[in-house]
Amino acid sequence: MQSRSKLKEKTGQALKMLESCSLCPRKCNVNRLKNELGFCKTGLKAKVCSFMPHHGEEPPISGSRGSGAIFFSNCNMACVYCQNYKFSQLQEEGREVSPEELAGFMLELQNNGCHNINLVTPTHVMPQILQSLVIAIEKGLKIPLVYNTSGYELVEALEILEGIVDIYLPDMRYADNNMAIKYSSAPDYPKYNRQAIKEMYRQVGVEGLIIRHLVLPDNISGTDKIMRFISSEISKDAYISLMSQYSPYFKATGIKEISRRLLLEEYENAKTIMEKYGLHNGWTQDSGGLERFAGVNIKSNI
Ligand code: SF4
Repeated sequence: MQSRSKLKEKTGQALKMLESCSLCPRKCNVNRLKNELGFCKTGLKAKVCSFMPHHGEEPPISGSRGSGAIFFSNCNMACVYCQNYKFSQLQEEGREVSPEELAGFMLELQNNGCHNINLVTPTHVMPQILQSLVIAIEKGLKIPLVYNTSGYELVEALEILEGIVDIYLPDMRYADNNMAIKYSSAPDYPKYNRQAIKEMYRQVGVEGLIIRHLVLPDNISGTDKIMRFISSEISKDAYISLMSQYSPYFKATGIKEISRRLLLEEYENAKTIMEKYGLHNGWTQDSGGLERFAGVNIKSNI
Protein backbone atom coordinates (compact mmCIF):
# COMPACT_ATOMS: atom_id res chain seq x y z
CA MET A 1 0.00 0.00 0.00
CA GLN A 2 1.18 3.48 -0.80
CA SER A 3 1.85 6.32 1.59
CA ARG A 4 -1.09 8.29 2.96
CA SER A 5 -0.18 11.42 1.01
CA LYS A 6 0.16 9.48 -2.25
CA LEU A 7 -3.19 7.76 -1.68
CA LYS A 8 -4.83 11.12 -0.98
CA GLU A 9 -3.32 12.58 -4.12
CA LYS A 10 -4.62 9.66 -6.19
CA THR A 11 -8.05 9.96 -4.58
CA GLY A 12 -8.20 13.59 -5.66
CA GLN A 13 -7.15 12.62 -9.15
CA ALA A 14 -9.86 9.93 -9.30
CA LEU A 15 -12.58 12.21 -7.92
CA LYS A 16 -11.71 14.76 -10.58
CA MET A 17 -12.63 12.15 -13.21
CA LEU A 18 -16.22 12.25 -11.91
CA GLU A 19 -16.63 15.86 -12.93
CA SER A 20 -17.09 14.85 -16.55
CA CYS A 21 -17.23 11.16 -15.93
CA SER A 22 -14.66 9.25 -17.90
CA LEU A 23 -14.02 6.45 -15.48
CA CYS A 24 -14.86 3.69 -17.92
CA PRO A 25 -14.96 3.19 -21.70
CA ARG A 26 -18.46 4.67 -21.93
CA LYS A 27 -17.14 8.17 -21.14
CA CYS A 28 -20.63 9.50 -20.38
CA ASN A 29 -19.16 12.92 -19.51
CA VAL A 30 -21.88 13.64 -16.93
CA ASN A 31 -21.02 15.60 -13.81
CA ARG A 32 -21.34 13.02 -11.07
CA LEU A 33 -20.05 15.47 -8.49
CA LYS A 34 -23.43 17.13 -9.06
CA ASN A 35 -25.23 13.81 -9.00
CA GLU A 36 -25.83 13.68 -12.73
CA LEU A 37 -26.30 10.09 -13.85
CA GLY A 38 -24.71 8.28 -16.75
CA PHE A 39 -25.10 4.70 -17.96
CA CYS A 40 -24.23 3.25 -14.54
CA LYS A 41 -26.95 5.31 -12.82
CA THR A 42 -24.61 6.18 -9.98
CA GLY A 43 -24.08 9.73 -8.79
CA LEU A 44 -21.63 11.02 -6.24
CA LYS A 45 -22.14 8.37 -3.58
CA ALA A 46 -21.39 4.68 -3.99
CA LYS A 47 -24.35 2.38 -3.56
CA VAL A 48 -23.71 -0.88 -1.70
CA CYS A 49 -25.97 -3.91 -1.88
CA SER A 50 -24.31 -6.12 0.71
CA PHE A 51 -21.05 -7.07 2.37
CA MET A 52 -20.04 -10.40 3.88
CA PRO A 53 -17.32 -13.02 4.22
CA HIS A 54 -17.50 -14.89 0.91
CA HIS A 55 -16.37 -18.50 0.71
CA GLY A 56 -17.21 -19.12 -2.94
CA GLU A 57 -14.37 -17.34 -4.70
CA GLU A 58 -11.26 -19.03 -6.07
CA PRO A 59 -9.39 -20.88 -3.29
CA PRO A 60 -6.52 -18.38 -2.79
CA ILE A 61 -9.04 -15.54 -2.54
CA SER A 62 -11.49 -17.23 -0.16
CA GLY A 63 -8.87 -19.00 1.95
CA SER A 64 -10.21 -20.55 5.13
CA ARG A 65 -11.91 -17.50 6.65
CA GLY A 66 -13.49 -16.05 3.54
CA SER A 67 -12.95 -13.08 1.30
CA GLY A 68 -14.42 -9.80 2.53
CA ALA A 69 -16.80 -9.14 -0.35
CA ILE A 70 -18.46 -5.77 -0.82
CA PHE A 71 -21.12 -5.89 -3.55
CA PHE A 72 -21.69 -2.56 -5.20
CA SER A 73 -25.07 -1.81 -6.76
CA ASN A 74 -25.30 -0.73 -10.40
CA CYS A 75 -22.80 -1.54 -13.13
CA ASN A 76 -21.16 -0.15 -16.25
CA MET A 77 -22.26 -3.22 -18.23
CA ALA A 78 -25.78 -4.49 -18.84
CA CYS A 79 -25.52 -8.24 -19.35
CA VAL A 80 -28.82 -9.78 -20.38
CA TYR A 81 -27.98 -12.89 -18.32
CA CYS A 82 -26.75 -11.13 -15.16
CA GLN A 83 -27.45 -13.21 -12.06
CA ASN A 84 -27.26 -10.07 -9.91
CA TYR A 85 -29.63 -8.08 -12.11
CA LYS A 86 -31.81 -6.93 -9.21
CA PHE A 87 -29.03 -4.74 -7.88
CA SER A 88 -26.80 -4.41 -10.93
CA GLN A 89 -29.49 -3.17 -13.31
CA LEU A 90 -32.92 -2.82 -11.72
CA GLN A 91 -31.85 -0.75 -8.70
CA GLU A 92 -34.01 -2.86 -6.43
CA GLU A 93 -31.39 -3.55 -3.76
CA GLY A 94 -28.77 -1.53 -1.93
CA ARG A 95 -28.43 2.02 -0.69
CA GLU A 96 -26.10 4.95 -0.96
CA VAL A 97 -23.33 5.04 1.61
CA SER A 98 -20.95 7.73 2.78
CA PRO A 99 -17.17 7.23 2.54
CA GLU A 100 -17.09 6.77 6.33
CA GLU A 101 -19.71 4.02 6.18
CA LEU A 102 -17.94 2.19 3.39
CA ALA A 103 -14.69 2.40 5.36
CA GLY A 104 -16.59 0.91 8.30
CA PHE A 105 -17.68 -2.08 6.18
CA MET A 106 -14.05 -2.71 5.22
CA LEU A 107 -12.94 -2.62 8.85
CA GLU A 108 -15.81 -4.88 9.92
CA LEU A 109 -14.80 -7.48 7.33
CA GLN A 110 -11.20 -7.29 8.54
CA ASN A 111 -12.36 -7.69 12.14
CA ASN A 112 -14.34 -10.75 11.07
CA GLY A 113 -11.09 -12.39 9.99
CA CYS A 114 -11.50 -12.03 6.22
CA HIS A 115 -8.27 -12.42 4.26
CA ASN A 116 -8.89 -9.49 1.94
CA ILE A 117 -11.34 -6.81 0.84
CA ASN A 118 -13.01 -8.03 -2.33
CA LEU A 119 -14.50 -5.10 -4.25
CA VAL A 120 -17.18 -6.63 -6.47
CA THR A 121 -18.10 -4.50 -9.52
CA PRO A 122 -15.98 -1.52 -8.44
CA THR A 123 -15.29 0.23 -11.77
CA HIS A 124 -17.98 2.90 -11.59
CA VAL A 125 -17.23 3.75 -7.95
CA MET A 126 -13.44 3.58 -7.93
CA PRO A 127 -12.96 7.17 -6.64
CA GLN A 128 -15.44 6.60 -3.81
CA ILE A 129 -13.59 3.41 -2.87
CA LEU A 130 -10.32 5.33 -2.65
CA GLN A 131 -11.99 7.97 -0.46
CA SER A 132 -13.05 5.23 1.92
CA LEU A 133 -9.67 3.57 1.83
CA VAL A 134 -8.00 6.74 3.10
CA ILE A 135 -10.29 6.61 6.13
CA ALA A 136 -10.09 2.83 6.63
CA ILE A 137 -6.30 2.75 6.46
CA GLU A 138 -6.06 5.51 9.03
CA LYS A 139 -8.21 3.33 11.27
CA GLY A 140 -6.08 0.23 10.78
CA LEU A 141 -7.10 -1.52 7.55
CA LYS A 142 -4.20 -3.78 6.57
CA ILE A 143 -5.53 -6.66 4.50
CA PRO A 144 -5.00 -6.84 0.71
CA LEU A 145 -7.40 -5.38 -1.84
CA VAL A 146 -8.99 -7.48 -4.56
CA TYR A 147 -10.41 -5.66 -7.59
CA ASN A 148 -13.16 -7.95 -8.89
CA THR A 149 -14.28 -6.49 -12.21
CA SER A 150 -16.13 -7.29 -15.42
CA GLY A 151 -13.04 -6.01 -17.20
CA TYR A 152 -14.75 -3.17 -19.09
CA GLU A 153 -12.10 -0.76 -17.90
CA LEU A 154 -10.06 2.19 -19.06
CA VAL A 155 -6.29 2.05 -18.66
CA GLU A 156 -6.27 5.68 -17.45
CA ALA A 157 -8.44 4.71 -14.48
CA LEU A 158 -6.48 1.55 -13.74
CA GLU A 159 -3.21 3.50 -13.69
CA ILE A 160 -4.47 5.32 -10.61
CA LEU A 161 -4.76 1.97 -8.83
CA GLU A 162 -1.12 1.04 -9.27
CA GLY A 163 0.35 0.25 -5.87
CA ILE A 164 -3.11 0.22 -4.27
CA VAL A 165 -4.75 -2.93 -5.66
CA ASP A 166 -3.00 -6.15 -4.68
CA ILE A 167 -4.97 -8.66 -6.72
CA TYR A 168 -6.88 -8.09 -9.92
CA LEU A 169 -9.75 -10.48 -10.60
CA PRO A 170 -11.04 -9.41 -14.04
CA ASP A 171 -13.37 -11.14 -16.46
CA MET A 172 -12.48 -11.75 -20.06
CA ARG A 173 -16.04 -12.08 -21.26
CA TYR A 174 -16.05 -11.68 -25.05
CA ALA A 175 -13.62 -11.82 -27.95
CA ASP A 176 -16.12 -10.47 -30.46
CA ASN A 177 -17.45 -6.93 -30.36
CA ASN A 178 -20.85 -7.87 -31.81
CA MET A 179 -21.37 -10.36 -28.98
CA ALA A 180 -20.34 -7.76 -26.39
CA ILE A 181 -22.89 -5.33 -27.79
CA LYS A 182 -25.65 -7.90 -28.15
CA TYR A 183 -25.38 -9.55 -24.74
CA SER A 184 -23.84 -6.85 -22.52
CA SER A 185 -24.43 -3.52 -24.31
CA ALA A 186 -20.67 -3.00 -24.07
CA PRO A 187 -19.26 -1.53 -27.30
CA ASP A 188 -15.59 -2.28 -27.95
CA TYR A 189 -15.40 -4.54 -24.91
CA PRO A 190 -12.73 -6.81 -26.48
CA LYS A 191 -10.43 -3.87 -27.22
CA TYR A 192 -10.77 -2.20 -23.81
CA ASN A 193 -10.72 -5.50 -21.99
CA ARG A 194 -7.43 -6.58 -23.56
CA GLN A 195 -5.80 -3.23 -22.85
CA ALA A 196 -7.02 -3.49 -19.25
CA ILE A 197 -5.67 -7.01 -18.76
CA LYS A 198 -2.28 -5.92 -20.08
CA GLU A 199 -2.22 -2.97 -17.67
CA MET A 200 -3.20 -5.16 -14.73
CA TYR A 201 -0.48 -7.64 -15.63
CA ARG A 202 2.04 -4.81 -15.90
CA GLN A 203 1.14 -3.70 -12.38
CA VAL A 204 0.93 -6.99 -10.51
CA GLY A 205 2.41 -9.72 -12.74
CA VAL A 206 1.31 -13.34 -12.77
CA GLU A 207 0.99 -13.61 -9.01
CA GLY A 208 -1.50 -10.76 -8.66
CA LEU A 209 -3.82 -11.59 -11.53
CA ILE A 210 -6.60 -14.17 -11.89
CA ILE A 211 -8.48 -13.97 -15.18
CA ARG A 212 -12.03 -15.29 -15.10
CA HIS A 213 -13.56 -16.65 -18.27
CA LEU A 214 -17.25 -17.50 -18.15
CA VAL A 215 -17.93 -19.98 -20.93
CA LEU A 216 -21.23 -19.02 -22.57
CA PRO A 217 -23.41 -21.34 -24.69
CA ASP A 218 -22.91 -21.43 -28.47
CA ASN A 219 -19.32 -20.19 -28.22
CA ILE A 220 -20.58 -16.66 -27.61
CA SER A 221 -17.61 -15.88 -25.37
CA GLY A 222 -15.01 -16.70 -28.04
CA THR A 223 -12.85 -18.90 -25.82
CA ASP A 224 -10.26 -19.72 -28.48
CA LYS A 225 -9.40 -16.09 -29.23
CA ILE A 226 -9.29 -15.19 -25.56
CA MET A 227 -6.99 -18.05 -24.61
CA ARG A 228 -4.74 -17.28 -27.56
CA PHE A 229 -4.48 -13.68 -26.38
CA ILE A 230 -3.62 -14.70 -22.82
CA SER A 231 -1.06 -17.23 -23.97
CA SER A 232 0.67 -14.96 -26.48
CA GLU A 233 0.30 -11.49 -24.96
CA ILE A 234 0.08 -12.06 -21.21
CA SER A 235 1.75 -15.28 -20.10
CA LYS A 236 1.37 -19.02 -20.40
CA ASP A 237 1.71 -19.00 -16.60
CA ALA A 238 -1.30 -16.70 -16.16
CA TYR A 239 -3.86 -17.91 -13.63
CA ILE A 240 -7.21 -18.59 -15.24
CA SER A 241 -10.52 -19.41 -13.65
CA LEU A 242 -12.54 -21.23 -16.28
CA MET A 243 -16.16 -20.96 -15.26
CA SER A 244 -18.91 -23.37 -16.25
CA GLN A 245 -21.61 -21.95 -14.04
CA TYR A 246 -23.58 -20.07 -16.69
CA SER A 247 -27.32 -20.14 -16.06
CA PRO A 248 -29.98 -18.17 -17.92
CA TYR A 249 -30.98 -15.48 -15.46
CA PHE A 250 -32.87 -12.26 -16.14
CA LYS A 251 -33.60 -11.58 -19.84
CA ALA A 252 -31.65 -14.63 -21.01
CA THR A 253 -34.62 -16.91 -20.44
CA GLY A 254 -36.25 -15.26 -23.46
CA ILE A 255 -33.21 -15.41 -25.78
CA LYS A 256 -33.13 -18.79 -27.45
CA GLU A 257 -29.39 -19.41 -27.81
CA ILE A 258 -28.62 -18.51 -24.20
CA SER A 259 -31.78 -19.82 -22.57
CA ARG A 260 -30.04 -23.01 -21.42
CA ARG A 261 -27.16 -24.01 -19.20
CA LEU A 262 -23.78 -24.83 -20.66
CA LEU A 263 -23.38 -28.33 -22.10
CA LEU A 264 -20.70 -30.55 -20.65
CA GLU A 265 -19.04 -30.87 -24.07
CA GLU A 266 -18.90 -27.09 -24.45
CA TYR A 267 -17.02 -26.83 -21.18
CA GLU A 268 -14.74 -29.74 -22.05
CA ASN A 269 -13.97 -28.03 -25.33
CA ALA A 270 -12.99 -24.84 -23.48
CA LYS A 271 -10.61 -26.86 -21.27
CA THR A 272 -9.04 -28.42 -24.38
CA ILE A 273 -8.50 -24.95 -25.85
CA MET A 274 -6.70 -23.83 -22.69
CA GLU A 275 -4.44 -26.85 -22.90
CA LYS A 276 -3.83 -26.24 -26.61
CA TYR A 277 -2.38 -22.82 -25.81
CA GLY A 278 -0.22 -24.17 -23.00
CA LEU A 279 -2.17 -22.43 -20.24
CA HIS A 280 -1.64 -24.53 -17.17
CA ASN A 281 -2.39 -22.43 -14.09
CA GLY A 282 -5.74 -21.83 -12.47
CA TRP A 283 -9.02 -23.54 -11.77
CA THR A 284 -11.66 -25.36 -13.70
CA GLN A 285 -15.10 -26.31 -12.44
CA ASP A 286 -15.73 -30.01 -12.88
CA SER A 287 -19.09 -31.46 -11.92
CA GLY A 288 -18.02 -31.82 -8.30
CA GLY A 289 -16.86 -28.22 -8.19
CA LEU A 290 -19.74 -26.75 -10.12
CA GLU A 291 -21.25 -25.22 -7.05
CA ARG A 292 -17.97 -23.79 -5.89
CA PHE A 293 -18.54 -20.42 -7.49
CA ALA A 294 -22.18 -20.74 -8.47
CA GLY A 295 -24.60 -18.13 -7.25
CA VAL A 296 -23.87 -15.26 -4.96
CA ASN A 297 -25.01 -16.04 -1.48
CA ILE A 298 -25.97 -12.67 -0.10
CA LYS A 299 -26.32 -12.78 3.62
CA SER A 300 -25.98 -9.21 4.77
CA ASN A 301 -28.23 -7.07 2.67
CA ILE A 302 -28.05 -3.50 3.84
S1 SF4 B 1 -18.53 5.15 -14.69
FE1 SF4 B 1 -20.73 5.36 -15.19
S2 SF4 B 1 -21.07 7.53 -15.67
FE2 SF4 B 1 -18.84 7.13 -15.70
S3 SF4 B 1 -18.34 6.74 -17.83
FE3 SF4 B 1 -18.74 4.73 -16.87
S4 SF4 B 1 -20.91 4.29 -17.14
FE4 SF4 B 1 -20.58 6.48 -17.59
